[in-house]
Amino acid sequence: RKVLIGGGTGFIGSHLGELLGTKGYNVVNIARMPGANNISWTTLENSGLPMRSCAVVNCAGQQFMDFTKSWTPGFKQNVQNSRVYTTKALATAINKCLDKPKVFVVLTGVGAYEPSECNKYDESSPTTGIDFFSRLTIEWEKAAKVDPPVRLVIIRSGAVLGRWGGMIKNMFLPFYLGLGGRIGNGKQYLPWIHIEDLTRLIIFAIENDNVNGILNGVSPQVITNNDFTHSFAKALRRPAFLPVPEPILNMLLNRERAMIMTKGQYVIPKRVQEFGFRYKYDNIDDACKEFAHLCPKK
Ligand code: NDP
Repeated sequence: RKVLIGGGTGFIGSHLGELLGTKGYNVVNIARMPGANNISWTTLENSGLPMRSCAVVNCAGQQFMDFTKSWTPGFKQNVQNSRVYTTKALATAINKCLDKPKVFVVLTGVGAYEPSECNKYDESSPTTGIDFFSRLTIEWEKAAKVDPPVRLVIIRSGAVLGRWGGMIKNMFLPFYLGLGGRIGNGKQYLPWIHIEDLTRLIIFAIENDNVNGILNGVSPQVITNNDFTHSFAKALRRPAFLPVPEPILNMLLNRERAMIMTKGQYVIPKRVQEFGFRYKYDNIDDACKEFAHLCPKK
């Protein structure tokens, strides 16, 4: 049983690869740099899928919270292309392939839904394309078109919480030093999922033939930025009294990018639960306890 992972070298992709490995799958990554288990995007485009895979997953994408990069038109283009082109390249390779995989799983984001303090979104809610991230997600998901009988599963993920990547990697040090705090007024929703649940959900989508279409990859517990701040500080046994004012973030990061932190959406995983997926972390306090540690990476 083989799985091909676009962006398999990243935070989510490598965690997924490890979990698949423990379940007896063979994993091949697609990456920009050569590596033991990697093929390049050019090889994929020129030669198609490298092997008979039961599933193809895309977890590739230039990180937009890379604070060393300014929010320039060129960088935004890179953020867009690294998601849309990689997804299109995989969909094209799948459509051309004779011995097709059973399923194509594409990881996108809850940025598909317009930030709001009053709307509630499940998988049937419309996307409006009103801001950069929702327009990007619409393009990204459009690029994922695969012909039947290949199943398409699109997972719109919330902030993925784990010790070694994403939001927690960025916030760990300030919180550990007791310099953490809410962002803005802290009332914005923070759709979240623990890394282990997200990778389990991807495997659930691979292994269950009835799962298809859009899934909201979020925990059923809806929280705000305030709730998260409180739980994370409690798990680290640190105070978190230093709020980060919204205008400062807007100035440092650019308002359009800062939106990821200053605005949020109330998102529920209705279809995920209807399909019978069981979360391991459906409570932010338990999730924070899991990654609030200084142990070195295994
Ligand atoms: P990482 O930055 O840890 O990994 C990103 C991966 O994408 C790497 O494997 C990298 O592969 C690849 N990549 C980066 N830039 C490019 C590029 N320009 N062209 C092709 N490939 C590229 O990110 P995460 O694992 O955290 O996120 C993976 C995906 O999940 C992203 O698309 C992200 O938007 C989405 N997501 C993440 C969330 C989170 O909280 N982390 C939340 C919601 C969605 P290599 O360098 O080896 O080529």
